[in-house]
Amino acid sequence: MTQAHAGSGAPTPPGRSVPLHTQIFLGMISGAVLGVAANLRFGGTAGLDSFIKNVSYPVGLIFLRLIFMVVIPLILSAIILGVAELGDARRLGRIGLRTLAFTLFLSSVSVFIGVTLANVIRPGAGMPEASRAELLEVMKKYAGSVKQPPPPKTGLQILLDLIPENPVEAMVNAFRGDMLAVMVFALVLGIALTTVDRRAVEPLLLWLQALYEVVLKVIALAMRLAPVGVAALLFSVTALSGLRVLKLLALYVLTVLLGLALHQFCTYSLLLKYVVRYSPQLFFRRLREVMLTAFSTSSSNATLPTTLRVAEQELGIPRSIAGFVLTLGSTLNQNGTALYEGITVLFLAQFFDIHLTVGGQITVVLLSILSGIGTAGVPGGSLPLVMALLVTVGIPPEGIGIIFGVDRLLDMCRTVLNVTGDVTVAACVTRSEGHILKP
Ligand code: ASP
Repeated sequence: MTQAHAGSGAPTPPGRSVPLHTQIFLGMISGAVLGVAANLRFGGTAGLDSFIKNVSYPVGLIFLRLIFMVVIPLILSAIILGVAELGDARRLGRIGLRTLAFTLFLSSVSVFIGVTLANVIRPGAGMPEASRAELLEVMKKYAGSVKQPPPPKTGLQILLDLIPENPVEAMVNAFRGDMLAVMVFALVLGIALTTVDRRAVEPLLLWLQALYEVVLKVIALAMRLAPVGVAALLFSVTALSGLRVLKLLALYVLTVLLGLALHQFCTYSLLLKYVVRYSPQLFFRRLREVMLTAFSTSSSNATLPTTLRVAEQELGIPRSIAGFVLTLGSTLNQNGTALYEGITVLFLAQFFDIHLTVGGQITVVLLSILSGIGTAGVPGGSLPLVMALLVTVGIPPEGIGIIFGVDRLLDMCRTVLNVTGDVTVAACVTRSEGHILKP
């Protein structure tokens, strides 16, 4: 879709020697340390309460709002463009269909692993009720979007509500429960677009591509404020809840890392061994450079040139397959991201003690798979999508502020999986087309 850079990987402006992600990390540490100290010293006093409500939380919120503000244009442009790319895949016939089938299979398994781990480990459970109530009260002061989970609906009503009567109204109410309807609107437009003569819709595609680039730029600019924003948000959360919240956060990070490791070393290995009939050890060894690039750039798009070269030269994947599958995969096949999104949504649901029914969890699974289409392969590309997902299942999207500080680390790790997943799909397609990989 694009090669633009957004998120915490926005280029460090000249004159600043410390990379942005290091600044964000330092912001997180200082916010957390000051917050815990304030909690120990002034916890429960009116002064600290007022400081959080009137200074630290609003400062953090400015940063979050800059990202919220572009969620709707991002979803619209990214999903429509993503579906248009899928239209191309369909045109490519058998290889396209096989790519989609393997992508869908791998994404489903990854979200399944994530959701299962989050349910078993329950990393977000155990926030003391008083701290949670205080946190929600602070959030409610500024956020029209914080709300109770939507009242249960009948199956028919859920289905009807997916189709917006008025898409503009759905966009207005997106943060009050209509986000899914906006996604469906984008999906329908995207599908229709692929059936119209390409020349007739070219201007619209160009326009959407431009909108998409601009939105990514806004996110990249917002990320410049991230060090201060993350410090202010973490200060607010830890000052209210003390060390407890940091323990939950550590458990959350471990849960995501465990999920990523399971998917990387079990799912991919099994597929390589039994479908591709290729040694997983050899595969990972040959992919070392790709994994290192993905880890250090946190961007599937930025890793693409390396991925293409290694896939062809080291693994012997034919250029015709590598070019198509890997390029498509760098924006559509985001296994690591899907797994992380599933865990993040459930973590925050547990954190805020919001009970997600089986239906709610199925929504999380489906949306995590679907959001692969809308996720840009750039650092932090999935964050706006996570916010949209949170809104859809009735979790305060501001909750993302709690995990923002640790996001860069998880981004580096999930990008490794995103890229490895692309090459695994390319290897599966290669094998299913009757080619053998380089021994
Ligand atoms: N950084 C990821 C990628 O480029 C996307 C994300 O999960 O934010 O693949």
